[in-house]
Amino acid sequence: MHGWRIGRIFGITIEINFTWLIIFGMILWLVTQQELPGAAPDATTAELWITGIITTLLFFGSLLLHEIAHSVMANSLGADVSRITLFLFGGVSQMKNEPNSPMSEFKIAIVGPLTSVVLGGVFIGLHFAIRAIGLSGVWAAALLWVGDINILLAIFNMLPAFPLDGGRVLRSILWGAWDNLERATHVASNIGRWFGYTMIGFGLLGMFAGNLNGLWFVGLGWLLSSAAAGSYQQMQLRNTLGGVHVHDIMSSPVQTIPGDASLAEAAQDHFMTKRFSAFGVEDENGRITGLIRMKDLQGVLRERWSYITVREAMQPLDREAMMVRSDDEAVDAMMQMARNDLGRLLVTDGSGEVVGIISLTDIQRLVKVRGGLGV
Ligand SMILES: [Zn+2]
Repeated sequence: MHGWRIGRIFGITIEINFTWLIIFGMILWLVTQQELPGAAPDATTAELWITGIITTLLFFGSLLLHEIAHSVMANSLGADVSRITLFLFGGVSQMKNEPNSPMSEFKIAIVGPLTSVVLGGVFIGLHFAIRAIGLSGVWAAALLWVGDINILLAIFNMLPAFPLDGGRVLRSILWGAWDNLERATHVASNIGRWFGYTMIGFGLLGMFAGNLNGLWFVGLGWLLSSAAAGSYQQMQLRNTLGGVHVHDIMSSPVQTIPGDASLAEAAQDHFMTKRFSAFGVEDENGRITGLIRMKDLQGVLRERWSYITVREAMQPLDREAMMVRSDDEAVDAMMQMARNDLGRLLVTDGSGEVVGIISLTDIQRLVKVRGGLGV
């Protein structure tokens, strides 16, 4: 999931997905139209909006701190989190590799809800402090709301439903007890799925009874059950591809086409005579600056192939997402392709030099063979 970059903190990039704007608007509406007027009936409209906007920002700041806590803990334990994306239902920290021990997983998971509890305590404390000095009214109500919502967030996240934090805590305990990550993931993700189904059931019941809030439960339940199923599949894939690195299955060296060749030349001399469906594009100095795929040729009318250069039609190598390191795990390359909707990645060595190309079909072929052999 991608979004707009809003900043960087502790070396982690913070992004906002467009779905986040929907939830921001909804929370702002809820706070200014329902929560605050209910708690402070004599507040003016201007007061309600100013307090409402700040309250909503405090709420999202709290969500972000929860996520940052996970990421900073993960990074201190050797995981590699470089990006946090805020979206419709909260935040996700994008971890490049899974925690390597039950204790690491436990620490990474628990620190998020702990942060929310501490934030909840601080805001509720501020609420009472403000009331004690007689500054009650709309600000006291706002602080209490932010405090309560942080406590609720901690409780929701501690549900033992993988991949929620509580489910990760549960998995880490089972993992430690059984010394078997796959079995622990299997059980934890099944519990997560059933939690999801139960939420969908309650949501539907509520909606039939005329309560539209049931829709939220259906949405959250669906998200939870599919995330649980997805995490288990990912785990199986990780097992199947265990120990396979990008350099084991990449094509190397990269077959290239000069950038100033026409598309007609590229088709004639490369696509139609070699077994590849994508080539690196070389500049005058022999540096690879992009990727030209069969799809890019198909996107141009055949009559125009003689007039358009490869450089004009290529996918420029301007995104970090298009590259992978040769010593990365194949399964991580696969996840990167899935996240960014790409069919292949260029492979770089330690010094950033392009040394090969890896395609989704190459990885899928290996998954099929290993699966077929029962590996
Ligand atoms: Zn969390």
